[in-house]
Amino acid sequence: MMKILINCSCGNEIELTPKTWGKHSYFANTVNGKFRVDQYHVEINKDVTISLEESFINDLTDASEKQEVSQILNNGLEDNFTIDTELKEIRIDCMGCGEYIVLTEF
Ligand SMILES: [Zn+2]
Repeated sequence: MMKILINCSCGNEIELTPKTWGKHSYFANTVNGKFRVDQYHVEINKDVTISLEESFINDLTDASEKQEVSQILNNGLEDNFTIDTELKEIRIDCMGCGEYIVLTEF
């Protein structure tokens, strides 16, 4: 079994262990207000690649109703747009003393 210890010099400490099938550890259920992941420092790079299929363009140009356009866009997003995401960093703040650690370079 793997576990992650977060230990601050002020005495705040938690141990993250797998709690469920699939070895997930629920951070929010474990921290009890001792630590917080600062969402402003969770950075995700987004690269959007657009590669439009001819049939997709034809369907759009043939559509005359807003509802039809909306349906074509919804159905065609996965085939015509690729979004690559990359987690850049995670910041964990100690709620006891304000110290923090930034995990980066994944
Ligand atoms: Zn602390």
